[in-house]
Amino acid sequence: MTQPRIAVIGAGLSGLACARGLAARGATVTLFDKGRAAGGRLATRRAEAAGQRLQWDHGAQYLTARGAGFAALLAEAGAAGWGEAGRFVGVPGMSALPRALAGGLDLRAARHVVALDGAPGAWMVRHHEASRIRPGQALPEAAPAEDGPFDAVAVTLPPAQAAALVARPAPGLRARLAAVGIAPCWTVLAAFGTRPDWPETLRPEAGPVGWLARDSGKPGRDAATECWVIQAGPGWSRAHLEADAAEVAPRLLAELPVAPPPIHLQAHRWRYSLVEQPLGEPCLWLPAARLGLAGDWCLAGRAEAAFDSGRALAAAILG
Ligand SMILES: Cc1cc2nc3c(=O)[nH]c(=O)nc-3n(C[C@H](O)[C@H](O)[C@H](O)COP(=O)(O)OP(=O)(O)OC[C@H]3O[C@@H](n4cnc5c(N)ncnc54)[C@H](O)[C@@H]3O)c2cc1C
Repeated sequence: MTQPRIAVIGAGLSGLACARGLAARGATVTLFDKGRAAGGRLATRRAEAAGQRLQWDHGAQYLTARGAGFAALLAEAGAAGWGEAGRFVGVPGMSALPRALAGGLDLRAARHVVALDGAPGAWMVRHHEASRIRPGQALPEAAPAEDGPFDAVAVTLPPAQAAALVARPAPGLRARLAAVGIAPCWTVLAAFGTRPDWPETLRPEAGPVGWLARDSGKPGRDAATECWVIQAGPGWSRAHLEADAAEVAPRLLAELPVAPPPIHLQAHRWRYSLVEQPLGEPCLWLPAARLGLAGDWCLAGRAEAAFDSGRALAAAILG
């Protein structure tokens, strides 16, 4: 019997878990992601300033494992403990985890998938070079590249992006995807020449700032640098969603006790960060269409939920 050919759209943790689950059972898997590498919201940003190499985990801050499967995956990917017991991070950055998990998989990076065509059991995936896609603008005039046919497709994108991709092949999912809620998160990446008088981590109960952490205190980072992550809470992030990044960074910094002048300061807007209203099922699988959806948004706002969802979809696809 020939092995099924399956396309997985999205190489965040849910897509990686799905692809690995499928490949482990002999399926031929092709992963597509618009990013330059696997990882999605498990991400690390790098920069240089004042002769220093700087880095920050600007997405997920630390991972926790309730289940044995996720704990084993973290160990396999080389995660190290950080701070409170049970918190794990990638080394030398969070992005090291998805890179390790993507090893051996057929990953087409920097490909922005724009359409799923064909028919159940013979899906074609159409994609453009990611750098040619501009949010809110028309697609490039040139015809997209295509791959396929695939026996099944797994879409592992945040719900709004998944909804756009499955609108034509699965119009019945629209209302269910629209009911899922994910908070945005403005994240400031700051570096200083000397250490600010701040605690190593802080989760304020009130005010615009929702989380503060000294990234350079994580294992495997350059402890001589002072790289800090400041996240706005969901309310503030939502209220300032369309604000200018150049204004957001100093505004959030000003909410904290006075710090030395930063040598680097930038803000990153995550439109989708932590799930507030999940779907309430491990994944969505349409057997007649041979089309499935997975992501943290199916279950909860934690990386482990993305892993559980991706694994559940792999099991559903292979029956
Ligand atoms: C600021 C922030 C802080 C967080 N903190 C924590 C934390 O401390 N602990 C924790 O457990 N979790 C945290 N999370 C949540 C955690 O990061 C997510 O639950 C998890 O990474 C989601 O994985 P995913 O695969 O479901 O989605 P994603 O990681 O979003 O993966 C989706 C992938 O799809 C790709 N993609 C999107 N559209 C297309 C397209 N059209 N074509 C091709 N590819 C596409 C994207 O590039 C991305 O790689 C945080 C998230 C954020 C943003």
